[in-house]
Amino acid sequence: MRIMGLDCGVTEIRGIVCNQDGKVLNTARMAAESGEGFFKYIHNIQSLVNTLAQPYSEISCVGVASTGRIDPQNGIVLNSTIPGYTGINLRVVVSSVLDVDVVVQNSDRAALIGESWMGAAKGYKDVVLLTLGTIVGGATMIDGNIHHGSSFRAGEWGHMQLIPNGKPCSCGRTGCLEQYIATSILSEQMERVLGLNACREEYHELYPGENENIAAVLGEFTGHLAWAVGNIEATADPELVLIGGESFEWFDIFSPLLSGELAKRNIRLPVKKILLGSDSGCIGAVKLALENCQCTKNKNK
Ligand SMILES: [Zn+2]
Repeated sequence: MRIMGLDCGVTEIRGIVCNQDGKVLNTARMAAESGEGFFKYIHNIQSLVNTLAQPYSEISCVGVASTGRIDPQNGIVLNSTIPGYTGINLRVVVSSVLDVDVVVQNSDRAALIGESWMGAAKGYKDVVLLTLGTIVGGATMIDGNIHHGSSFRAGEWGHMQLIPNGKPCSCGRTGCLEQYIATSILSEQMERVLGLNACREEYHELYPGENENIAAVLGEFTGHLAWAVGNIEATADPELVLIGGESFEWFDIFSPLLSGELAKRNIRLPVKKILLGSDSGCIGAVKLALENCQCTKNKNK
């Protein structure tokens, strides 16, 4: 069997083709160009599906992970920052190119499914993923299943209110977690104290223990993150919190400081980084397709 997994982000669309054991046979990626409107964005998704499918005589089914609030039952984008993308039926978008079963899920939830299948959450049943990028997203797994909530909003940890009367947020409220621990906020603060557009490798060289400005920024960042982990512990009581998104690459830098901030607050919940990196969403999409498409169910009989 050949199963395709897609992860449609705001800046990039990624895809993989796997066999039924999750062995990756082929990968492809392209710029999303979502700023050019949803027509272009959807055209790019369809183009990547074509590219990935080309070498194979048959693709059995497709799992699609996408940015935005997603209704996985109907395959519909319920809310998105990409203009015109809200209301799009992703099942139709993909099956009009490849006439096979298509399952759809939000990217963060797919990433958690991927990590649970063959990444850092393997063997765990109750896990929360915090995705730290330009925005802060996430997903919650309870007893091995993704928790969607009554309106598919469960796991939007970025809009947990952290600071009363704090910074204004895009959601209309103030003091949301996203305004304090998004990777974009961290980068801005680093640039402010260092006066340069430093890349991650440079931060590695300027280890926080040897630079009080970096230590101050990371101290505040990990403090906010620790409060969030404490709130997650009280809300969802998971066995593990995973850090994903762009910030998983920074994890080794801020992890020692985070451990200290967690200990200060008497929080014993383990916090780890994801293992599958940028592929976690695609791999989770493949797993979803394997579990939910009719073709795989028939072949497994
Ligand atoms: Zn918010």
